[in-house]
Amino acid sequence: MFLSHRPGFLLGKDETASSKRMAQYIETYDSFVEHPRYGKRPKLTGLNPRHDDEGVWLNPELSDDYRIPGTAIQADLSRQTPATYQVTHYFDVKRFCRDCHRRFIFFAEEQKHWYEELGFPLQADAARCPLCASACNT
Ligand SMILES: [Zn+2]
Repeated sequence: MFLSHRPGFLLGKDETASSKRMAQYIETYDSFVEHPRYGKRPKLTGLNPRHDDEGVWLNPELSDDYRIPGTAIQADLSRQTPATYQVTHYFDVKRFCRDCHRRFIFFAEEQKHWYEELGFPLQADAARCPLCASACNT
């Protein structure tokens, strides 16, 4: 009788822990500046390559603290502007806006657009949040 109740009890405990984690996760990104196209929460892809994985090159100028785990997307190396380094993956990264000092996400999808469609060098970084950046351009 006692034993048959245990699995249910444990499952209940796990559910509480994971909804707590989810609440924390949502709270963390609530204060972020919203991107008009991508929003303000990381886009989880489940892809999480690491520096020491074979055939993986990540931006050497970014510390792991800024990369949001599990948000990587594949890069197309043939489309990147030749630079001192290339990257095989882009991650959603956390950034501070130079102007308003709020936090925002420089999205993996946006990096792919910058470095593969617009031809920006890989050293180019987003210094301003989407709001300040668009205020700058108008
Ligand atoms: Zn800003």
